[in-house]
Amino acid sequence: MDHAIALDHVTLRRLLELRLGDLRADLQRASPPAEDHDASEVSDQKDSATQAQFAAVRNAEERRDIDEIVSVEAALHRLESGTYGICMQCGEPIAAQRLLAQPAALRCAACQSEIERQRAARR
Ligand SMILES: [Zn+2]
Repeated sequence: MDHAIALDHVTLRRLLELRLGDLRADLQRASPPAEDHDASEVSDQKDSATQAQFAAVRNAEERRDIDEIVSVEAALHRLESGTYGICMQCGEPIAAQRLLAQPAALRCAACQSEIERQRAARR
């Protein structure tokens, strides 16, 4: 294991495990929309529509949390197997700075922005 990464795996593991703990706590906190959620702001809208919107937003957030849990767990697994920090697209090491900001990153910044460009273009 001789990645060109200045981050040690103990630090990375801690980062990933902290993130995992946060995400799991978020999911556990998830509950039906609170009554006091700025009711005045939406008082002129139909309650059912508002509730549905809340539910949709909440579901999207939960899905994002679950997606991230999966990717953080995958990152921990890559840490175990020694493939962590390598871009899945180009095989180059991912910059340490990027890994610090996004420990579960699968791609280097260049490949990621390329993918996001393609996604945006498809829309
Ligand atoms: Zn790459």
